[in-house]
Amino acid sequence: MHGLMMDRPLLISSLLEHGARVHHDTEIVSRTVEGPIHRYTLAEARARSCQLANALTKLGVEFGDRVGTIAWNTHRHFDIYFATSGMGAVCHTMNPRLHPSQLTYIANHAEDKMLFVDVTFVPLVEAVWDALQTVQTLVIMTDKEHMPATKLPAVCYEDLIATESDAFEWPTFDENTASSLCYTSGTTGEPKGVLYSHRSTVLHTFMMALPNVLGANDRETILPVVPMFHVNAWGIPYATAMTGMKLVMPGPGLDGASLTELLNAEEVTIGAGVPTVWLGLLNYWREHGASVPSLHSMVVGGSAPTRAMIDAFQNDFGITVLHAWGMTEMSPVGTVCRLKPSISDASEDERHTLQLKQGRAVFGVEMKIVDAEGNELPHDGVAFGELKVRGPWICASYFKLEESRAHDDDGWFATGDIVTIDPDGYVNITDRSKDLIKSGGEWISSIELENIASSHPDIAQAAVIGVPNEQWTERPLLIVVPKPDRQPTKESVLAFFEDKVAKWWIPDDVLVVEALPLGATGKVQKIKLREQYA
Ligand code: AMP
Repeated sequence: MHGLMMDRPLLISSLLEHGARVHHDTEIVSRTVEGPIHRYTLAEARARSCQLANALTKLGVEFGDRVGTIAWNTHRHFDIYFATSGMGAVCHTMNPRLHPSQLTYIANHAEDKMLFVDVTFVPLVEAVWDALQTVQTLVIMTDKEHMPATKLPAVCYEDLIATESDAFEWPTFDENTASSLCYTSGTTGEPKGVLYSHRSTVLHTFMMALPNVLGANDRETILPVVPMFHVNAWGIPYATAMTGMKLVMPGPGLDGASLTELLNAEEVTIGAGVPTVWLGLLNYWREHGASVPSLHSMVVGGSAPTRAMIDAFQNDFGITVLHAWGMTEMSPVGTVCRLKPSISDASEDERHTLQLKQGRAVFGVEMKIVDAEGNELPHDGVAFGELKVRGPWICASYFKLEESRAHDDDGWFATGDIVTIDPDGYVNITDRSKDLIKSGGEWISSIELENIASSHPDIAQAAVIGVPNEQWTERPLLIVVPKPDRQPTKESVLAFFEDKVAKWWIPDDVLVVEALPLGATGKVQKIKLREQYA
């Protein structure tokens, strides 16, 4: 027997419509790429999203078409999020920090029909333009006054929408329709596309708003430093539309001074970003005797915060650290570390130590840990194995790889994170089974670096490991075995990487050794190397 309730689809347009009606005066404040601060309300954001949807319709954007963006967190990016998904197209955000060859691959693989770019990234697009196979229209996200000189056939964003009507009838369709697309780097091969749906996004937004997660509501003001090209800025723009939480977006101003000024001017209460950004902010506060009295919580995710960071925020500035874990494949949020009431009277040392853990699963994310044979392990805080997850906002297949599912036969997605889970449900990442390095919140493929190093004329064997680094969390270290009678120098080896990978991928150092530790199957034992060179 079915329940007898209305079957209304969960659509992103309903988030915007709700926000514009119920939280019409909630502000969205952006530091623009041009410099000045821009502010508008949710009602005005809706009007501009409608104008943009009308313009996109005229340009021939149809249901299911992919619309690419290469952009900072600003109000125009917010318009694009809602206009594209709302009309049934797919908002495809791209990471400008990727190597141009990867960006080209991604835009072509997604078959982006249009591309929206900030002025900052016009040179990047100029460099890859001839290789883009499907982009028909390029829009530069600025006004007429700030349009850069470019040979590309570009349209000005503000001109594009200026004369359009601010009324648009958002279509109603199946809630499982694709809404946005974000590529993630794997250990090998090309990046893979995670294709979110309206349903997964709206359910994830409900979860984000919960008090035990973000606690989003219309008395909070949030500043996501996490980019809108990293898993939809962790879903924060959608949470603003749902709850009326004020949204402050930093544009390109990610340095300590710019962030502090904006945080204070807008009386931000919650920040969200990766440890590298918060370390820069803390250093700035210490050097300049600055602080942000309005802030009560800092969401730290993407990588784990250090104990020193937790102590500094909480003891020196009275700001609670909310350690969170997730993945691009998980929309992204899977756990948040808030202290259970029964733990809150533990000693400060115990509480801060617990906050190093990634936290407890949010509702909607089921978890288990398994050993190498796939046997389930106890949640006793001791047994460690790979974390597997399942839930309605977790990737089932990658875009255009639908035939090879992203999960196992029982529907579990393997995260590649090695964890313990304690009896209270706190997940603790102890290692990573995927051969990747996370530097400043961005992935570096060890295997790709090893392949390049191995083609150096003086190198017989190469291994790349991530070593802990205060500023970047991890940095790549290259360890090489030379060919007989060859003496590779650090300079020649590092120079060899130039033009082959993005600059920030190039290892920090090169160690020349006589042999690498090998396991029984002849594979390099990276665990040993990590222990040795940590
Ligand atoms: P991404 O898909 O780029 O968001 O990366 C997801 C991966 O980043 C996870 O599988 C973890 O390996 C790592 N990660 C994310 N959050 C954390 C965290 N709080 N602590 C440690 N690692 C994290």
